[in-house]
Amino acid sequence: MDVFELANFPFVNGALRYVEELDFKLDELFSELAFEGVRGRGKERVLHAMGDGIEKPGISDETDAKMELLSYPVARILVSCINDAFLIRRYSLAEAKSAHELLRKLPVASLKEFATDFSIDAEISEQGTSMHFTDYIRFAVRDPKWKLINRTMDHGMVHLSKEEFIRIMEEAVRKRIESNLPVDVPPEICAALGTALQEIRNEMETRRSEFSIEEFKEIMPDCFPPCVVHALSGVSSGVNLTHSARFALTSFLLNIGMNVEGIIGMFNVSPDFDEERTRYQVLHIQGGTGTTYKSPSCSTMLTYGNCIGKDSVCERIAHPLGYYRKKAWLLGKGKTTDNQDKNPPDVS
Ligand code: SF4
Repeated sequence: MDVFELANFPFVNGALRYVEELDFKLDELFSELAFEGVRGRGKERVLHAMGDGIEKPGISDETDAKMELLSYPVARILVSCINDAFLIRRYSLAEAKSAHELLRKLPVASLKEFATDFSIDAEISEQGTSMHFTDYIRFAVRDPKWKLINRTMDHGMVHLSKEEFIRIMEEAVRKRIESNLPVDVPPEICAALGTALQEIRNEMETRRSEFSIEEFKEIMPDCFPPCVVHALSGVSSGVNLTHSARFALTSFLLNIGMNVEGIIGMFNVSPDFDEERTRYQVLHIQGGTGTTYKSPSCSTMLTYGNCIGKDSVCERIAHPLGYYRKKAWLLGKGKTTDNQDKNPPDVS
């Protein structure tokens, strides 16, 4: 790959070697005026990762390409100084999504070179792709459609469309970036980046509060049971929930009155977010096909490993919806007729 391609894919091994061979020391990157633009772009990568995603700037010459390439280690160092799981996941996901668009434009030969960088044994052509099943298992998306049993396999090679292969590569990129964060950063470098770090922390707090308060302002998030809080914190930090946890969370939120758009927006940080599919699933759980689903009981939650973080209120209920109502009553948020004050609604 030349420097222009390395600028687009700064997480490949060739990019690391290229940067190591450049004639400067790490601390110069964070102190010299000549690198101010690189530092700015590195910060922008992290801020955009928490927003609408990382867009690639126009690169017209080698200087632009080097600047874009160097902004990647700056971004990683910024993320590492903060060292927050939510930020690491959001950043890794955004870099991988950004790479996805660029991978689609790569010619077959470059795509093969890219796969080799990830030690992926693949045969690639415009018509279709096949890869060894052991590589497929490493990076396949966690979804029934991607289960090995649902794929066509021949002599250990799994057949995929080119688009599916690129989706696999996106996951490989995400895992590589996430597993290599945080990096060790000397404290004096984090100190030199103080202003940029504060800006990123402020943005993180804004994103978190938008998620946790604005989405739920018409309902009572402080009454959510521990299992729901756990699932929500996973979603907000980009964890790919199991199917059963996703169903439990979605049905719970629908049952307490959250709207469909709010729930779809909530899943928008998931590694496999697909708006159309998510909308279908949420509407299905809501009753779009004639069956209105109630969220699972505590015993079902326990069976599927989704009962997490039980507290004292859990001892008095048998259903997460019962928890929600009991907690509302305990906090004085329930309806105030005498009867309901003495006997909080039981939906268990
Ligand atoms: S006992 Fe029920 S409400 Fe409490 S955490 Fe477990 S599943 Fe959730």
